[in-house]
Amino acid sequence: MSLSDAEQALIRQAMEECKKLPDTVPCTDCKYCKDCPQGIEIYQLFAGYNEKIETGASWLIENYHTMVPKGKQVTDCIECGACEAACPQGIEIMKEMKRIYAGL
Ligand code: SF4
Ligand code: SF4
Repeated sequence: MSLSDAEQALIRQAMEECKKLPDTVPCTDCKYCKDCPQGIEIYQLFAGYNEKIETGASWLIENYHTMVPKGKQVTDCIECGACEAACPQGIEIMKEMKRIYAGL
């Protein structure tokens, strides 16, 4: 069964809309970055951010400043690099955390 011109146009439009969305972070929630010396829960931040991008809402992202304890927030990162060395996905964790935090 082939798609009609109208259906093809609808798919093209949906694909264009998707391209406008900011990138999600390809975090698999493996938690190899869990030993952050600052206790920053990186995978929770990324999961919340991806949820926000995909569904339009995230409890954690919308309440980050009040729900994440002081001392364990993105701004407490000391840039030791341990998380990036441990991440099998090769995510630029520090850069991504700052990008997300800037939009909170
Ligand atoms: S670079 Fe920052 S987030 Fe990563 S382990 Fe070090 S303190 Fe934690
Ligand atoms: S190590 Fe990388 S892929 Fe695994 S939870 Fe941490 S950020 Fe996500």
